Amino acid sequence: MAGRFSLNWFAVASVLIVAAIVADIVRRTWPAADPVAAPASVQESLAVTPDSPPAPRPVPAAGSVAAGPGYIEQLAHAETRRRLRASAGITYLNDFLAASTDSMLHRWNNRIASPVRVYVGPGRAANYQPEYADAIRWAFARWMSAGVPVRFDLDADSAAAEVRIRWRVQFDIDRTGQTDLTWNGDGHIETGVITFATFDPQGRPMTTDDIRVVALHEVGHLLGLDHSPDSADVMFPVSRVRDLSERDVQSALVLYALAPGPLR
Ligand SMILES: [Zn+2]
Repeated sequence: MAGRFSLNWFAVASVLIVAAIVADIVRRTWPAADPVAAPASVQESLAVTPDSPPAPRPVPAAGSVAAGPGYIEQLAHAETRRRLRASAGITYLNDFLAASTDSMLHRWNNRIASPVRVYVGPGRAANYQPEYADAIRWAFARWMSAGVPVRFDLDADSAAAEVRIRWRVQFDIDRTGQTDLTWNGDGHIETGVITFATFDPQGRPMTTDDIRVVALHEVGHLLGLDHSPDSADVMFPVSRVRDLSERDVQSALVLYALAPGPLR
């Protein structure tokens, strides 16, 4: 093992419910203060569940002192934190940074020239409909049109894919979408899996429009965004809107203007 960097495994798990009835108990591990969904809203909760303990920091070269980041790095981190604070109101990056357990920004590298390879594939779960794939393609296209310097090739084959779309009939808990990411020690996202359910937790079939909203939210996670505290944003845990807000767009643009990685 070269030990050049450590691979951190985290799961960004999302829960999305098309809620006609809001009597259901929705478990949330974060953020704790999700508002109660209004009837007919799309409700989601998030669980940040590391699959394994956080990986150790990269091993310093022989002879070096195993201290924290160097002075130059600390200055860079401080500048990034300053820019995040300055974006408060325009973006929600500062909000989820404050709630973050690992104080780390994650995002893809600039992938304009070499698009991220996504395997959409046919779904085999019961109630899967070919139109769902169109809804997912729409969501990727919507984010790309926002100006984020990442392109996605949705025609990649399975063997070469960096991102996979998966389908299941239902989740065991209250969710209809989930995004799992891996990133390297620099905070650059390396792979992703987005899983969609074909039925909501109450057993109702997901409509194509439901899948569009779930996909828009999950692709936001795939880009590296976390939840917004504002219900006007698609990245709000309980999605109430069906398109990106200006804050969704600005949050993604600012995220891609900053260096990923640890901030402390
Ligand atoms: Zn989410």
